[in-house]
Order: sequence, then C-alpha cells, then structure tokens
Amino acid sequence: MAKCEACGNDYDKAFQVIMKGNTYTFDSFECAIHVLAPHCDNCGIHIVGHGLAFNREVKLAAAACRASGGHKSAPSVSLRRAA
Ligand SMILES: [Zn+2]
Repeated sequence: MAKCEACGNDYDKAFQVIMKGNTYTFDSFECAIHVLAPHCDNCGIHIVGHGLAFNREVKLAAAACRASGGHKSAPSVSLRRAA
C-alpha cells in the first residue's frame, strides 16, 4: 500500500506521477490535481485542461475564467480551428 501525499490515505490502488523530475504518490486524480495542477492567477481555481499563459501568469481559458466570476480582467482570446 502507498500513502497519498495530499490526504494521507493509505490505498492499495495509489499511483505515481512524475513531474519535473519529482515523483509523487496519490490515491486519486483529485488529490494529484490539488497538489500539482497550476492555478489561475486571477481566481486560484486549479487548471485541469489547457491554461493560457500571459507574461508568465497562468490563467484559465478566457471563457471559463469569466464564467467563474470575479474575472473582470480575464484575457480576451479568440481561437482558430484547424482547417
Ligand atoms: Zn489523497
């Protein structure tokens, strides 16, 4: 059994994530996201999908950032679809 680094749960189905050369052990994706996922510099929400980087700040995608409220300065971004 292995102990989750986020919550301390000792779990036989724990898994490891290697990130930037460091190995972490978790019992769930939720705990892995809590510890490893970047967070929006506007609101602190963990970014699970693709974030956007502006001047070294990581932000939620513009629509998600505005939808979560409190994001008056959310970046305006237009995306193009691949042809
Ligand atoms: Zn956990």
